[in-house]
Amino acid sequence: MYNVPANFINEQQIWDILNTHKTADRVQVREVLAKSAEMKGLEMDEVAVLTGISDPELLGELFHTANQVKETIYGKRLVLFAPLYISNLCSNECLYCAFRATNKEIVRNALTQKQITREVEILINKGHKRILLVAGEAYPQQGFQYVLDSVRTIYSVKSDHGEIRRVNVNVAPLTTEEFKMLKAEGIGTYQIFQETYHRETYQKVHLGGKKRDYNWRVWSLHRAMEAGIDDVGIGVLFGLFDYRFEILAMMQHIRELENQFGVGPHTISVPRLEPATGSDLATHPPFPVSDIDFRKIVAILRLAVPYTGIIMSTRETAQMRRETFALGVSQISAGSRTNPGGYEHEENQDDPSGQFSLGDHRPLDEVIRDVAKMGYIPSFCTACYRLGRTGQDFMDLAKPGDIKLHCAPNALSSFKEYLQNYASPETAEVGNRLIKETIAEMDGLAKQRAQKLVKRVEAGRDDVYC
Ligand code: SAM
Ligand code: SF4
Repeated sequence: MYNVPANFINEQQIWDILNTHKTADRVQVREVLAKSAEMKGLEMDEVAVLTGISDPELLGELFHTANQVKETIYGKRLVLFAPLYISNLCSNECLYCAFRATNKEIVRNALTQKQITREVEILINKGHKRILLVAGEAYPQQGFQYVLDSVRTIYSVKSDHGEIRRVNVNVAPLTTEEFKMLKAEGIGTYQIFQETYHRETYQKVHLGGKKRDYNWRVWSLHRAMEAGIDDVGIGVLFGLFDYRFEILAMMQHIRELENQFGVGPHTISVPRLEPATGSDLATHPPFPVSDIDFRKIVAILRLAVPYTGIIMSTRETAQMRRETFALGVSQISAGSRTNPGGYEHEENQDDPSGQFSLGDHRPLDEVIRDVAKMGYIPSFCTACYRLGRTGQDFMDLAKPGDIKLHCAPNALSSFKEYLQNYASPETAEVGNRLIKETIAEMDGLAKQRAQKLVKRVEAGRDDVYC
């Protein structure tokens, strides 16, 4: 059983550190950047030094270092997934979200298992292998069993060449017992965003329902890990409060999980407030984050926790997504819909029942072609999770850089599988060229593995990995 301190988010400590590092001292910034390049992560006061950067030259150096770290650890891989919204029923009053209980401007809908099957078939036939299941905090009659049934349904669907190989979950905080049930269904990562770590702001924007309880939410990942879910994801909804405060609070959360469980979060998500039907707050964020600060946030996180994946959703525009790949993003969603049933009813693209507006509306094939043209390898790999390389085991493997011997070949074989089974002719041409060029530049064991796996896919085998 882990120790329970009164509150591991220490606001006074955060303000003290931020006040000490209000403006960035050039010498200090360069010292922190030099340390970042060693890829061992950063302490809170070092992170604070980086948040103070505004000088364009130093900003350029920050971006350059983040790019180096990203390339060294992750190479050119970008993991792809699709969100699957199963229900927009919700009993909470989050002022920024279209799903909040009293919002009368959206049509409420919880998909049946049959409808979920249909959505999953569509996603599989587009080429997806990873789904992020998302729901509001109110379930139909079956209660929480609805989520468990939905995970089981998703894994059960088979269609031609494919199936979903990893289901990650983003639903409201659960009890330890419920987390155990979720784990038993074979989920990958459990994600939950604190939205804001600043208590006063948290109370101002969460007006009703269980989500008003800050502590229940902030302790939820402890319960998830205690229940044996060792890949967990954290996040902040940027725009609700001062981003510098939020980054440092996130660092406290990360260190707390590391201290208690020996391993920090598997992923960090960086949603930025987007307009949402029936929400004034979403249209007028109290602490808007500019594009340049948003890029800075991604770069700082990359250096602060180099081995934690950073997820960028389709909330952001194609251009912002492209720019942040170089700064540290390692996972992206593509071809997303945020209204339940949105994949079957594509014609309702502008359905106001979505959770928020999307910045990138492009279909998966187009995103993949674009990513590949930039030299990034779209990866559908799910090997680590399926071979039990999760939590501490994943970090042990990732830290010395050995993950490259697995990730690079697996990314290439899963990309080849996509190109062979789902891609348009133009995307296949761009992708096959990239695979060839990438293998030509590899050497040693990674190259041998990549060649072997890609050949097996060419010979008609699906789902090969090491
Ligand atoms: N209902 C659960 C919850 O709130 O934790 C599960 C997921 S909720 C549907 C997914 C996330 O969407 C929220 O955690 C929040 O960060 C984000 N979100 C809500 N409204 C948003 C908006 N207007 N713009 C961007 N992201 C938003
Ligand atoms: Fe409900 Fe989640 Fe939206 Fe809040 S963010 S209203 S809990 S769906």
